[in-house]
Amino acid sequence: MSEHVAAPFPAERDPLAVALSSLPPDIAGAIDSLPPLAVVHRMPGHAVDTLAAHWSAGTPDSEVHPLLARLGPAARRLRELQVAERVATTCPACAFDGLEAPPYLAFEGVPVPQEGTTPPAPPYAVHFGDPSGQRCPCCGYGFGIDDDPADGSEPITFESWARRWQERGRPGYGASTRPAG
Ligand SMILES: [Zn+2]
Repeated sequence: MSEHVAAPFPAERDPLAVALSSLPPDIAGAIDSLPPLAVVHRMPGHAVDTLAAHWSAGTPDSEVHPLLARLGPAARRLRELQVAERVATTCPACAFDGLEAPPYLAFEGVPVPQEGTTPPAPPYAVHFGDPSGQRCPCCGYGFGIDDDPADGSEPITFESWARRWQERGRPGYGASTRPAG
């Protein structure tokens, strides 16, 4: 989960496509026939994604579970990939989980603080690889922009950006997307 940048998951490396290609057609069709959920599907109409959405939503669905059982290890692996992908495209400042690309090339989430250690300091490219150069559509943090200002001004950490953003009432930056709650 590290080397996709502008276009996540080129077709030949798309783990979902690979997983789907190994599904018996009747299972893929059965997944497609499940009722839609009020969730944003990363890949609309995608059978495996639909199943993953049901799973993410915690649907205690007697229709879903037999399918999961038949999918077996493939389904578990798919779930792991979905979680990993979501972590990699979650804004480290505001936790919005719909970034178009990982904020940094090797970003897999902000490390959980350990006792006696300090959180990673900007510029974050040192820790997570090349920045996307994009801004979070929710809080506006610029990856490789605000942590490494071109004009030589003081870098801003994820933490202090998030604090200021919350103090300002969490204004949306671009699109109307923001984390729930
Ligand atoms: Zn953000």
